[in-house]
Parts: sequence; structure tokens; C-alpha cells
Amino acid sequence: YISPEAFSFSFATTVLAASVLGGSGSVYGAVIGAAILQFGLNQSRDFQEYALVFTGAFLIVGGVFLTGGLAGVFRGLIARLDAAAAKSAGTSSPVPTDAVAAPVASADVGSFTGKTLTVTDVSKSFGGNKALKSVSLSAAPGRVTALIGPNGSGKTTLLNMVCGFYRTDAGVIDLDGKQLQTLSPDAVARAGVARTFQTPHIPEGVTVFDAVVSGRYMSHRASILDAVIRSPRFRRVRAADRAEAEAMLELVGLSRFRDAEATSLPLGMRRLLEVARSLVSHPGVLLLDEVASGLDEHDVDLLSTVIRKVTAAGGTVVLVEHNFQLVLSLADEIVVLAHGEVMAKGTPAEIESNPRVLSEYLGVDPDDLVDEAGTESGR
Ligand code: ADP
Ligand code: MG
Repeated sequence: YISPEAFSFSFATTVLAASVLGGSGSVYGAVIGAAILQFGLNQSRDFQEYALVFTGAFLIVGGVFLTGGLAGVFRGLIARLDAAAAKSAGTSSPVPTDAVAAPVASADVGSFTGKTLTVTDVSKSFGGNKALKSVSLSAAPGRVTALIGPNGSGKTTLLNMVCGFYRTDAGVIDLDGKQLQTLSPDAVARAGVARTFQTPHIPEGVTVFDAVVSGRYMSHRASILDAVIRSPRFRRVRAADRAEAEAMLELVGLSRFRDAEATSLPLGMRRLLEVARSLVSHPGVLLLDEVASGLDEHDVDLLSTVIRKVTAAGGTVVLVEHNFQLVLSLADEIVVLAHGEVMAKGTPAEIESNPRVLSEYLGVDPDDLVDEAGTESGR
């Protein structure tokens, strides 16, 4: 039975003292603290007699001086040894103050098992606004499928429907035989879809490194029990998460900022961070929403290199982009949206010489095209 006496004041102070001694922020610290109090001190007759005095005094002293418990003391020691080792090796921790361009990252993207995304006759209305009208497209592994079109033509809406943020009014979204259009965003993420956002979505209060690591949570996680007991499986998952995040930060040139607060980065770098965050899970499909806007020339080059590496490694990329030159240089297929409808589809060469695309999307007068066709394609 449970009685109020079982939870006496002295019991409460003992539990509190155990967690202060061990360190309440660490699972094993708290266990060790409890063990010391229970099997060590508690066994002595004198201690039992004066237990309240001991624990009370300890709570005051320990609470003030031993803020992280024994676990904290131990961690502090390791951190100090680490710092000393780093100092003697001549490396220092990065300071996120300069925004000088890093060399184009040479890191490897690893392997990707790209999936085929097929969007068939998808429609979406917001009230009376028909944002998408029966849109179909397909993105295959090893290829960059670009989605272009003027502002408001429905590009982001389409990505939002693929990743489950919006429900389709009609149509089918298929990923290697699995239908996505009825799934929630987390289920779509687990199915292997990763994305970046036109306006980066990065939580406050996390470092660049942790923000990138979080990209693996959906696809490579240990169970809560594994995490609580810090099982070998949890440690393996965490080590892989960290290694992968380091590699992707290196790839997008953000390694120097790994310990900076993620939201403190300028817009361009936050976009690159989102690219790294979506790559760490090695998704079946990577959706990029205007990642190049706000990037300087150097970072646009870096981004192209990264995208090429992903497709060369077998990944599937859907690229929503305004930078027409970038699209022409990267895309295997281009889908042009206008007013929520697919206006044209084709190879870069076909799209570049499509009079409708040039006039409606690029604002080139079709009458001039006859004379300019030769020079236009060289732009
Ligand atoms: P793009 O990304 O091509 O610039 P969007 O997909 O953002 O275009 O928008 C397409 C159309 O859908 C626009 O008319 C926009 O106003 C509308 N729209 C997008 N999202 C919403 C929403 N959540 N609520 C209402 N209208 C929306
Ligand atoms: Mg958009």
C-alpha cells in the first residue's frame, strides 16, 4: 500500500541530496549519488542518527558549490583535458565573427538511395484562389528536377503538399510506390523526404551543429529507453549523427560556425545550414526551396557543387529556384509553372528556347526572339 509516511520529509531530502551529489543533469550521476547515499553513508549508524543534519547541510553546501554534481565535476575535467589537448595541437575553437568565404568544400556527401517522386494531377485551392491546377511532375534518382515560375505560381505550395504541410484537394503524390498525400509531415519525413524552407525555419537556442544533427532525428533515432540508459545502440546512433553532421557542415562550408547560435547566422548561411540539415538524413528526395537566393556568388558555386554531388551519389533533387542560369546549369529537367499550371516541361535546352517561357517568365518579347535566338541561348 502507499501511505503518506512512505514519502516523509527525510526521504525527500535524501532523494534531493542524492541528485545534488551525483548531478541531476546526468542519468548515471543521479544513480551514483543515490548509491553513495544508500549503500555508503546510510549504512553507518551515526549517519542515520544525524541523517537530516547531514543531508540538510550537504544540500546547502552542495547546492551552492556542486552545481553539476559529481557528473559535472567529471565533465568539467574532461572538457579541460580536451581544451589542453586542442591547445597543444594548435587548433582553437571557431569564433563566428568573420564571414570570409571558406574554400569550396571538398567533403564527400556519402551515398544516397534516391527515390522516385511522382506527382499526378495535384490541385489545391485556398478559398477561391486556385494555387495549383492539376499539376504533374516526376523526379528521378540521379537527376535534378527544377521547378521554376514567377512568384505566386505555386512552387512552394507544391513542396508543402509533397511534405505533408498542406492536404491536396485532388491528385496523387507517390514516392517509390508509397502514397504521401494523406500522410502527416513527420510520416513523410520518415518516408525519406527532406526539405529546406524559402524562409529558413531554425529553432532558437540551438547551435549550428545541433540544428544540423536534428535532421537525423526522424530517420536515425534510438528509442527513448536506449536514450535514457545511454545504451550502446544510443551511443552508436549519436556517434553516427555527429560524424554525419560534421561532414555535412564541412560540405556546405559552415564547420567554422558549428558552435555559434544557429539563428545568429546571416540569411545565406541559414539557408546552407538547412541544406546540411536536410542532407544529414540522406533523404530519398531532397526538396530545395529557393536556396540560392541571398547567397553570394561563391556560395552559389558551393551549392551547385553540393547538388551535383548529391545527384552523382544517387540522390533525387527537386530544385525550386529563381536563378535561371543556375537552373539551366544544374537541371536535367525543368518544369515551368504559371498561375498554378504546368506551362512547359523539358530539358534546359528546350526550356531556354521556349518562346512562351521566355516571354511570360523572363519578360523577353517573343518578336525579338527570332533575331536573338542565337545570342539568347548563350546568355
Ligand atoms: P511561389 O512559391 O511559386 O512563389 P506559392 O506557392 O507560395 O508561390 O503561392 C501560390 C499561391 O497560393 C499564391 O497566390 C499564394 O498567395 C497562395 N497561397 C500559398 N500559401 C497559402 C496559404 N497558406 N493560404 C492562402 N493562400 C496561400
Ligand atoms: Mg515560394
